[in-house]
Amino acid sequence: MYEKEITVEAIINGEKITSEKHEARENPAHPDQTAGFFPLNTREDTIRAIDAAHAAFPAWTNMAMDERIERMRKAIQKIKDATPEIKELLSREHGKPLYDSEGEIGVSLAWMEFACDNAKEVLKNEVKEDENGKTIIARDGIGVVSAISPWNYPLSLSTIKIAPALLAGNTMVLKPSPLAPLAVSKVVEMIAEEMPDGVLNLVHGEAEVGKELTSHPKVAKIAFTGGTETAKHIMKAAADTIKKMTLELGGNDAAVVLNDFDVNDERAMRRLVISNFLTAGQICMIAKRIYVDRSIYDQFVDKYIEAANKWIRVGDPFNENVTIGAVNNKNQADHVQSLVDQAENKGAEVVKLGTILDEDVFNEGYYLHPTLVLGVDDDDPIVEEEQFGPTVPILPFDGDEEGIELANNSIYGLTSSVWGKEDHAVKVAERIQAGTTMINTAAVQGLDVRFPFGGVKQSGIGREYGKEGLLAYTDTHVINIPKDGDLPYIPE
Ligand code: NAD
Repeated sequence: MYEKEITVEAIINGEKITSEKHEARENPAHPDQTAGFFPLNTREDTIRAIDAAHAAFPAWTNMAMDERIERMRKAIQKIKDATPEIKELLSREHGKPLYDSEGEIGVSLAWMEFACDNAKEVLKNEVKEDENGKTIIARDGIGVVSAISPWNYPLSLSTIKIAPALLAGNTMVLKPSPLAPLAVSKVVEMIAEEMPDGVLNLVHGEAEVGKELTSHPKVAKIAFTGGTETAKHIMKAAADTIKKMTLELGGNDAAVVLNDFDVNDERAMRRLVISNFLTAGQICMIAKRIYVDRSIYDQFVDKYIEAANKWIRVGDPFNENVTIGAVNNKNQADHVQSLVDQAENKGAEVVKLGTILDEDVFNEGYYLHPTLVLGVDDDDPIVEEEQFGPTVPILPFDGDEEGIELANNSIYGLTSSVWGKEDHAVKVAERIQAGTTMINTAAVQGLDVRFPFGGVKQSGIGREYGKEGLLAYTDTHVINIPKDGDLPYIPE
């Protein structure tokens, strides 16, 4: 186990940089306890990290793919071996239960392995040859990538960028969120140790560091996961040097429950509950608004409450009976509570779900009682905004057309789900605007690292995971060798 109050540092050019000053990361389940300490790096530190990544790029990008893969596989093994320690650290700084932290490490490893298994095939040169000559289509590394990750899934949303970027021959400077900086630092350290100096660098901080990472001329690409508002600042900062970007942003995912959904299917109902409340609802791709065909609405609500009461057990992240832990930070907890209060003050019915396992822990930490919100309108903030917390509204609709219209009535389009008989559900799914639509499941339960993931509309630009997630870190470079390079219409 890592020491109780671990201190992590920046890593620049293969060296841990010991800062004089550190910030404490509180434990959200017990805010009087500190989970560990991290530095707030300066603009100068960030520039040094970018310079180191820039200097390391030529040798790294020319290194044989086999060697890059071998180094990444060694890092994967180290992370696997350290899973028990990493999951405890992650739960302590994040507030989520141990099983949930272990799940996040599992997804990270699955993706890193997929990237290693497929990099050679996906990124290899394509060669076309015919009577007109020969063309080589190469996938070149882009250069220095700035990776910026959020607090909700700090490990998987960092490794989702590190593995493909490095395997494709890029170097990187990564900045995690100050709201979950510890476990990800240990994972980055394990990967950086296996790489030549400067290939993977780590800096900590907020907007000052973020601004440098997104505007510095030596940065070629930005890989950002976080809020849509932050992404707008990033796009402006990057505009002067036309950086390439992958943006994975907010979502307000709809679950559309059709008239032929079997409300007595307990397993399906449990999956829906999990897809609303896993990680206390703090997942970009969680179902954040449920629309139910009016013909089954009343029975659906009763059965939903029954299933939620069975699955939801709120308590200390280290208690193995707990399914939902604390909210990651006070601002987030206050924000979610204010959305629920606002709805209740307007006349909505708020139904408390599940069991609080330990009232003392609940009262001490940033906990919210999970809730269902009924009797709201589609333009109420709890429906229109991304709540990112343990509450979900259910609204009725009349017929598929209205269900589709309501699901699409959002500036976001990350994931979505349709619940009902498969053929019917697929027909409806085809008309929903989203990067992924799942049938009779939702959120991480339907996630598969082999296939591309990302959002439409204001939920993002580009894709992570799958082959597209590897190609996203390359520039296409065509080398043309025509047999006869002379153009027929140009006079001798
Ligand atoms: P956030 O946008 O507040 O912060 C994300 C990261 O950006 C942090 O590391 C933060 O320090 C950094 N940052 C802040 N200001 C910056 C600036 N001006 N320049 C550069 N970097 C800056 O997001 P958050 O609160 O950490 O995460 C929650 C949000 O992330 C939600 O909206 C959620 O939906 C979204 N999210 C999306 C996905 C996805 O894959 N689409 C996954 C997880 C989370």
